[in-house]
Amino acid sequence: MAQWNRTMFYRRLLEQWSHGAWGSFEDAGAGSFSGYMLNRLGPQRTNTPLLAQLFASPKANFIIFQGDQLLVTATQPRALGYLGAREILECAPNPFTLSDPPINSPGLEWVFLGIDKVPQPNSTQATEMAPPDQTLPYDQYPSYWVVDISLKASAPDSPAHALAQKVEATVATNDTQLAPLQRAAFGLSIKEGAILAQAVTMVDWNRKNRFCPGCGRPTVSSDAGYKRNCVTEPAGSVDPTAHLRPPCVNRHGVHNSMYPRTDPAVIACVTSSDGNRVLLGRKKSFPKRWYTCVAGFIEPGESMEDAVRREVQEETGIRVGPVMYYASQPWQPFPNQLMLGCIAQAVIDDIAVEDDELEDVQWFTREQAVAAVNRAKASLATSPSSPSKVTAPTSPTNFSTPPPHSIAYQLIHFWATSQLNSPRL
Ligand SMILES: [Zn+2]
Repeated sequence: MAQWNRTMFYRRLLEQWSHGAWGSFEDAGAGSFSGYMLNRLGPQRTNTPLLAQLFASPKANFIIFQGDQLLVTATQPRALGYLGAREILECAPNPFTLSDPPINSPGLEWVFLGIDKVPQPNSTQATEMAPPDQTLPYDQYPSYWVVDISLKASAPDSPAHALAQKVEATVATNDTQLAPLQRAAFGLSIKEGAILAQAVTMVDWNRKNRFCPGCGRPTVSSDAGYKRNCVTEPAGSVDPTAHLRPPCVNRHGVHNSMYPRTDPAVIACVTSSDGNRVLLGRKKSFPKRWYTCVAGFIEPGESMEDAVRREVQEETGIRVGPVMYYASQPWQPFPNQLMLGCIAQAVIDDIAVEDDELEDVQWFTREQAVAAVNRAKASLATSPSSPSKVTAPTSPTNFSTPPPHSIAYQLIHFWATSQLNSPRL
């Protein structure tokens, strides 16, 4: 019987998929940190002459991070606040013209994010690909960069110090501000939400990998910010212990510890064994009556399906059978995190909360889920600049979902508006 149920579950999911609903972000209203891709020009990350051109182009856009703050517009709708190449070059030299491979000024590490599509004359539509047919050279396209100006140790006459002062002056005179990432990340357009997801992750990874995980020596940025190298001590190093350290594994053979990482996590919309209810939980810190899907990191040695079954059992006591991938989302403002959204089906429906991660876990009906989804949608319509705020339910038995730009909402929305339940299941 269990096998038959599983077959039916997968068949029903695949039927929904064929109707075009699978994996699409409904009602998101704002950036969901995915759904837009710059052309990252990965093979060109060591093309120093090209990077020099892109860096100095009037079409270059530089995203600025300072600590946990980000340069954004001060007015609504919220948008990223960029510096242009002219402003950057008033403070710092073009690192790609200094030498090949390039050398960064102390305290400034540049990451090249990619080039964008080019809007066509007399049209709001951009070309589909960037560049579409090689008719334009790369440097004719808008490019995106990110730089972190957090390093406080910069000397007063250094480029890093000059750039920090430039940002300060920009904030004082323009309609821009340095805003905490957690606030700035929400409400951006789809395009800028996706660019920010890439930028945040790259800044965080470069910040946290200034020392080699293989040997502890300092690392230097390369490949336009997409790689860090373990460096050899300079001749005449004053470190008397340098010769005592073992040869570094990151300097030889195949390794991947010097490239940006992504940590996969699972988030699951679990249906009851008959498909008629959805399993949601809440933490103490959540707003009142706010419930969401079970989520957690994939542990070493687990498949995505293993992780869903373990997390759901640990947090709710529910044993899960079929698990199917739905859609994914790089979840900001947490860097490096990729949420893998799944639909799963319970084998038994008896909740048993044993740990203290969740304050409460409940089964909700489709009617309750539809009402919650509609309320989230209405909240977004009345307050588009605060997409993370969802109006609380008026009935004490109802619940609120996370906001529409979250994968949790998308999973609940999919289940609430699908026909997964059936007397035959
Ligand atoms: Zn090393």
